[in-house]
Amino acid sequence: IFVAPTADERRRRVLVLLNPKSGSGDAREVFNMHVTPVLNEAEVPYDLYVTKHSNFAIEFMSTRCLDAWCCVVAVGGDGLFHEIVNGLLQRQDWAHVLPHLALGIIPCGSGNGLARSIAHCYNEPYFSKPVLGAALTVISGRSSPMDVVRVQLQNRSLYSFLSIGWGLISDVDIESERIRLLGYQRFTIWTLYRLVNLRTYNGRISYLPTEQQDSSTQSHSGYAGQRRMQGSRSCNTHIDMLTGPAPSYHSSAEYLPQEFADVISLETSINQSFRSRCDSWLSGGSRRSFYYSISESIYHSLADESEFTGLATASLENRQLNYGPTSELPDLADPLPENQGWMVEEGEFVMMHAVYQTHLGIDCHFAPKAQLNDGTIYLILIRAGISRPHLLSFLYNMSSGTHLPEVNNEYVKVLPVKAFRLEPHDNHGIITVDGERVEFGPLQAEVLPGIARVMVP
Ligand code: ADP
Ligand code: MG
Repeated sequence: IFVAPTADERRRRVLVLLNPKSGSGDAREVFNMHVTPVLNEAEVPYDLYVTKHSNFAIEFMSTRCLDAWCCVVAVGGDGLFHEIVNGLLQRQDWAHVLPHLALGIIPCGSGNGLARSIAHCYNEPYFSKPVLGAALTVISGRSSPMDVVRVQLQNRSLYSFLSIGWGLISDVDIESERIRLLGYQRFTIWTLYRLVNLRTYNGRISYLPTEQQDSSTQSHSGYAGQRRMQGSRSCNTHIDMLTGPAPSYHSSAEYLPQEFADVISLETSINQSFRSRCDSWLSGGSRRSFYYSISESIYHSLADESEFTGLATASLENRQLNYGPTSELPDLADPLPENQGWMVEEGEFVMMHAVYQTHLGIDCHFAPKAQLNDGTIYLILIRAGISRPHLLSFLYNMSSGTHLPEVNNEYVKVLPVKAFRLEPHDNHGIITVDGERVEFGPLQAEVLPGIARVMVP
């Protein structure tokens, strides 16, 4: 007798989208070796599609019939996941599909902020076997609602699950591409370069605070506070810099965090005088002498600003969103309403970074208080005028999540918001969404609480 499969039985296959170019390019091997055996053992049927080009996943998710699948798993990095989310939200039937299709990620990219954040939120270990952990998450069948942020640029909208950045951190992410050959060290080296050659950006940031909290006096003890109490090396450094007398630096090795010290000892890429130049800079030496201490090859790449013209998302630039959730914000070209709770920060900034996951990368614990489904964007602002040691300490402590102040101060502010608008007053700079560069210009963003479902351990 033929028994028609129930709707559930029809919808129990897993859709796997794999980016063969993710990270070091071994996602296919990682999947075959570490994920396939888990799926087979659990008797979870899956369909594997290997992406053929950039935007493949957007096209796939926005145009295919998805009825056969109960979930979609990205085998790649945050960029691939970003495409999946954006493809889904471009569908006419997005409101029907999204609640029923859990989204998962097997971390194989160079940016794995989401996988790290999910593990963190569920107190799961990450570093020993992140891929196995994520594969077990897929077969667990559990999922949780997750916020997505709708981002409106001047000529298009897109969706984001991780971050929106303007200024220092975005500059480092994008500009350090030119020294990619140095591997992950590129971030540290470029951060040092940007710290010395600090740029500030003028603009206006308007925001709508979340209801529960008074954003201007918001305290951020949380993890940051707890960790600082433990008295680790980084914690002491942090406290000294923020509250102690102006530090005097005896040697870079003593002062700089281990990661920076490692870079400084990279004698192949940076000549030996770097260390002493770094000392002299930290004790108030000139920028020029610091530049000259950087090796020839890096120095030359610094000089060439012209190579940054292409946008990662260029091919989507003119694509309009026809469907997807509607915005509750006024048009980007129109003024924001008065007397409806909007607040403003205006002036010179070192950076703005808006984040909604705990981690931006595996070792960047950027918003310790963030939750998957809290309807909150953590808007983190650093104003111009911050001292170099204070800024260096902020950047260094990002890895442990101890970089944010307990209470907002003149230079560093953490604002939990539901929406914000960024209006840069300069006509150039770098803006990133989920770590990818987008068109420079004004933008606004609003949280769509719990609109997606993400697979959890
Ligand atoms: P990583 O974290 O290493 O950057 P991602 O998986 O996030 O890895 O992918 C980065 C980008 O690669 C994505 O934004 C996507 O547009 C692009 N991409 C996806 N598939 C391919 C492919 N087959 N060839 C080249 N690029 C691709
Ligand atoms: Mg959140």
